[in-house]
Amino acid sequence: MTVRVRFAPSPTGMFHVGGARSALQNWIFAKQQGGVFVLRVEDTDAARNKPEWTEGILSALEWIGIARDTYEGPYFQSAYAGEHRAAAGRLYDAGRAYYCDCTREAVQARTGSQYQGYDGFCRDRGLPPGEGRALRFRTPDEGTTVVVDLIRGEPTFENKLIEDFVIARGDGSPVFLLANVVDDMTMGITHVIRAEEHLPNTPKQQLLWDALGVKPPVWAHVPVVVNEKRQKLSKRRDKVALEAYRDEGYLAAAMRNYLMLLGWAPSGDREIVPWSVIEEEFRLAEVNPSPAFFDEKKLRAFNGEYIRALPVDEFVAACRPWLTGTGTIAPPPWQPEEFDADAFAAVAPLAQTRIAVLSEIVPNVDFLFLADPLIDEAAWAKAMKEGAAELLDAAVAGYTALESWDAESLKSTLEAVGAERGLKLGKAQAPVRVAVTGRTVGLPLFESLEVLGRERTLARLRAARLRLV
Ligand code: GLU
Repeated sequence: MTVRVRFAPSPTGMFHVGGARSALQNWIFAKQQGGVFVLRVEDTDAARNKPEWTEGILSALEWIGIARDTYEGPYFQSAYAGEHRAAAGRLYDAGRAYYCDCTREAVQARTGSQYQGYDGFCRDRGLPPGEGRALRFRTPDEGTTVVVDLIRGEPTFENKLIEDFVIARGDGSPVFLLANVVDDMTMGITHVIRAEEHLPNTPKQQLLWDALGVKPPVWAHVPVVVNEKRQKLSKRRDKVALEAYRDEGYLAAAMRNYLMLLGWAPSGDREIVPWSVIEEEFRLAEVNPSPAFFDEKKLRAFNGEYIRALPVDEFVAACRPWLTGTGTIAPPPWQPEEFDADAFAAVAPLAQTRIAVLSEIVPNVDFLFLADPLIDEAAWAKAMKEGAAELLDAAVAGYTALESWDAESLKSTLEAVGAERGLKLGKAQAPVRVAVTGRTVGLPLFESLEVLGRERTLARLRAARLRLV
């Protein structure tokens, strides 16, 4: 039997990192089993779904490594409404479901407000279908439902504790629980790998599989993803959108490596490993069922390592969108024609060891591409203390007289200027750095000046000197 798995996002917002994790796990599992990965967009909640979210999910999947030609679909749940209704009809015809006209208030009046479930009032009333009547599944009074879960063993649920749940609303539209099952059946899904949040739905869904006469899939409920306070990652509180990480300059390779470490680790004492190792070693059954901590700091450090490991030309190419502003990435603070690819290539190796996400390239190199540096006033105040004006004068004089404009000569000149004033190089550098780059920290100064060039460096030193008059 061919293994068929699916990833079934609802396009109601940005693509959640937890979803990306589940998608990768499904995709690897399918690949390992020689199976098929199906993408199904669960778009039945018309009020909350937007086509652009769907497009966003597809492109984010592609970015993370799930290319469009490696899966079947996308299928759209809304296209299967006929199958959902037919299944509801079959369950009713077989006596496995019944119509109910109870209002929530009526149920609560009978059961007391503490009880959240349904009391089975309409079970034996034999109501025919009608406007405003919901269809409820008649759950078995006895026995247990055993969910076979590759990660959690065999969670077992008492049937008598499962309420007669709604499968179609009063307007006849099937609910998520049923649509999701019918689609999995229609698409021949053999393994449902999804987030732990759905585990409470699973016994109900398995009862639907049984009632519809099809062998249920094998389940795998992967751990919930939590923040440092052990709270479930939420889009209101935490940074959860894969697109946000992408646009900030996380590398897809780092991101997917990190996502796969949520609840699992490769062999040896390794975390950063080539994707081929993950594809080979990942075992769904080894995934830890406890909540997985999404550690942004660790991800950041990870990303820095991935950035440092890039060949320089790839690093240069990877930075490009932040330097020229493309797609969803914010434009840089300079005009497109001010960008100088050669100047960037010259400083790129210096930047590569210093940044953890690609967007950080911008404040490191903006001094090269702006007509005037963006002066950070706090940095200015700190660097331009007593003696700064004289030091700048001396630097201008020394640099004007320089024969060769190279980092080595720029350094020794300033070293000498500092020494005359009893200043160590670090102290002597500070006013020069702020005058030229606008900041107190940045790329190595003398290499920066070499790339910026004689004229622009001198002009900035003079402009700073004028400000100090
Ligand atoms: N559309 C559901 C979700 O995004 C999928 C549930 C499932 O994977 O079965 O949570």
